[in-house]
Amino acid sequence: MNIKNSVIAYQEAVKHIPGGVNSPVRAFNSVGGNPLFIKKANGSKIIDIDNNEYVDYVGSWGPMILGHAHPDVVEALHQTAMNGTSYGAPTVIETEMANLICQLIPSIERVRMVNSGTEATMSALRLARGYTQRDLVIKFEGCYHGHGDSFLIKAGSGALTFGTPNSPGVTKGTASDTLTAVYNDLDSVLSLFSQYKDQIAAVILEPVTGNMGVIKPTEQFIHGLRKACTDNGTLLIFDEVMTGFRVARGGAQELLDITPDLTTLGKIIGGGLPVGAYGGKKEIMDMLAPNGPVYQAGTLSGNPMAMAAGLTTLKIVNEIDGFYEQLEEKAAFLAEGIQKNLEALNFPGVINRVGSMFTLFFTKETEVNNFSDVMKCDTDLFAQYFKLGLENGIYTAPSQFEAGFVSIAHSQEDLQKTIDKSYDAFKQLL
Ligand code: PLP
Repeated sequence: MNIKNSVIAYQEAVKHIPGGVNSPVRAFNSVGGNPLFIKKANGSKIIDIDNNEYVDYVGSWGPMILGHAHPDVVEALHQTAMNGTSYGAPTVIETEMANLICQLIPSIERVRMVNSGTEATMSALRLARGYTQRDLVIKFEGCYHGHGDSFLIKAGSGALTFGTPNSPGVTKGTASDTLTAVYNDLDSVLSLFSQYKDQIAAVILEPVTGNMGVIKPTEQFIHGLRKACTDNGTLLIFDEVMTGFRVARGGAQELLDITPDLTTLGKIIGGGLPVGAYGGKKEIMDMLAPNGPVYQAGTLSGNPMAMAAGLTTLKIVNEIDGFYEQLEEKAAFLAEGIQKNLEALNFPGVINRVGSMFTLFFTKETEVNNFSDVMKCDTDLFAQYFKLGLENGIYTAPSQFEAGFVSIAHSQEDLQKTIDKSYDAFKQLL
C-alpha cells in the first residue's frame, strides 16, 4: 500500500501540531505507523491523499450515521452559509432543533446547545452540582465523557489507549471530587453511596459504552443505578454523546427503558459539524442562566451551520421509515459474519454489538462485560489486525478501546467485503 503522501504530510504536521494530530485518538502511536491523511469522503468510503479508498467504520467517531457528504446535508450547509455563518443572536432553527430533540427523547423537556460533547458533559455536571448543592460525582472506570478535568479520572478512549487514564494537570481537589465505580457492578456504586451519604450530586455514565469498546449494561445494573440515584437524591446523567440517535431513535434510554434526569448529546446531532447539547427535566434546566444562577454560555452555541447540518440529519433519521431497522440489519449482518469467521477458524475473539455500534475484542475470554474483561485484550494482535484492515481497504479506529460505526450508506458489498477480509486476516494471524 502506497501512503507516501501521508508520510510526508505527517512529517510536516508534527513540526507544528503536537503529535501531528488535533485529537490524540487520530494518532497511530498505539498500533504503530503513520496516520492516514484524508482527502475526501463520500457515503461509506474515505479516500486518503495517496488515493487509497477505504470502507470507513470510524465515521468521524460517530456523527456520520447517514454516511459522508449526504447530499441533503451538503445542500443545507450551502444554503445556510450564503446567509452568514453566525449571528450571536437567536435563530428559529435553534427552536426547531430543540423541539425535535425534546420530541424524540421525552426525558428532555428543555435542551441547551453547546459546541462539543465535552462542553455538554462539563455543563451538565456543573448544573447537577448547582441543582443538588453537592460536590461529588461518580463516574465509571473506562467511560469517557470528553476532556473536562472532572472526567479525566480512570478515563476511557484515547486516555486509556495512550496509558494516561488519570491526566496530569487535573488538580488534586478536582480529582478528589470524582469517585469511580466499576461498570456493570452495582455493589461498587452502592458502597460509594453509603460511604458518601448525601454528598453525591450525580452519577454519569455511557449507558452503552463505546469508549472502552462496546459493552451493554446488565438490566440489574442499569435499573439498580436508576433506583439508587432516586433513593439518594442524586441526578442520573446519561452521556449519550455517542449513543444518542445511534443505538435507537430515542437513544440508549429508549433501548434500555430508563429515564435519566439529564442527558448529554453530541456527534449525530451536528451532522458532522462541531456540536453538543444537554437537557433534561424543566425544573433542573431552569437553574441555568438567564433563568437561574448556574452559568454557561457560548459564542457559537446553536450556530446556524451546526444547526442546519444537525437538523437535516435528525429529520432524515426520523422521517425514513424503518431507518433504525435497516441500520440494525446491516450491523447484525456484519457482526454475525465476523462471529462466524471467529468460530470457523477457532480464532480468539468476542464481537459485541448494540445497534450500529460494535467492537471486536481480541481476547481468549468468551465474554466482555466490564472493564477488567476489556483489559485482558491482546492489543498487539489488535494492532496487527488493524494494519491488515488498512491494507485490505478497511478503516477502523486505531485502538482496541473504541467502537466501530455502521452507517446507512454501508452497502451489502461493503459489509461482505469486510467480513471476507476479516476471515483472511484471522487466518493470517493464527
Ligand atoms: N462523551 C462521550 C460518550 C464521547 O464518546 C465523547 C467523544 O468521543 C465525548 C463525550 C466528548 O465529545 P467531544 O469529543 O465532542 O468533546
